[in-house]
Amino acid sequence: MKISEIKKEKGIVWSFEIFPPKPTADITVMEKTIAELAALSPDFISVTCSAGGSGNSRTAEIASLLKNKYAVEPLAHITCINSDKAEIEAELRKLRAAGIENVLALRGDRIPGAEKGVFEHASELVEFILSVDPGFDISGACYPETHPESPSPEKDLEYLKLKVDTGVKRLVTQLFFDNEDYFDFVRRAKEAGINVPIQAGIMPLVRKSNVDRIISLSGAKIPNKVSRMIAKYYDDPASLMQAGIAYATEQASDLVAGGAEGVHIYVMNNPAVAKAITNNLSSILN
Ligand code: FAD
Repeated sequence: MKISEIKKEKGIVWSFEIFPPKPTADITVMEKTIAELAALSPDFISVTCSAGGSGNSRTAEIASLLKNKYAVEPLAHITCINSDKAEIEAELRKLRAAGIENVLALRGDRIPGAEKGVFEHASELVEFILSVDPGFDISGACYPETHPESPSPEKDLEYLKLKVDTGVKRLVTQLFFDNEDYFDFVRRAKEAGINVPIQAGIMPLVRKSNVDRIISLSGAKIPNKVSRMIAKYYDDPASLMQAGIAYATEQASDLVAGGAEGVHIYVMNNPAVAKAITNNLSSILN
């Protein structure tokens, strides 16, 4: 089913993000993760792809497993900056052959020396995908705190509108920890004429490794409440797990209360975390 056509009577679109295993890894662990996530009945599960190019990850294989063995709608990520047209077209055909119709069209992170110079922006990828197969339902990324390379929030929104006008049906945000940033972004996006659903992406900070990665890579603003949580529980894995789940639960509940059109949880292949948050919100989500 096309994700942009999911309609909720009550509640919101609720989904998870996972990353594929390494090329040589045994698939059994991943299958167990998928089975546990599928049991939570999310509206979809997105599968990341490596920044190195579309043809070198197991995104299509995992997306196919989700759809064809576990009956969960997959959203396959696809990047373009480090790929050429033939590589992207091959990936799209692989996805289509597996019955996958939802893709998240991304520029991808810059890797020095890897850029192919064919695509510069995600909007060009959107145009290309639709030229290969107009049947794809395309989602795009957006940044409540503004994309780090953008000269200004206004320019970022201008280019986001261009991406949506090119054919993106819905947006998923970069992770953030302060819901006011999301609500303010949604308001500004609407004022800029962006009228597609904007699903909020949140990451539960439940492990030291998540904390280190987020602080070094995402550039997300860390509110005092989160800094205190990290300072107190950084070296106490069980407490960090509980506190991180509690924070993400509260964040998601407030997003729903504030009218968010969906919540996407960056679960980092941890079904126990997805299960805890989903169960904490069972009445709210159904
Ligand atoms: P774009 O929409 O192209 O925007 C990137 C920058 O270019 C912005 O500053 C924008 O304002 C600017 N811009 C856009 N169009 C133009 C234009 N026409 N002229 C001038 N400037 C322009 N990365 C991966 O490698 N794999 C993944 O699986 C992955 N999944 C992600 C999932 C989500 C939900 C998000 C939010 C990000 C994900 N990323 C992933 C990271 C993403 O690839 C990077 O954030 C990348 O830097 C930007 O991608 P984009 O698609 O938002 O790019």
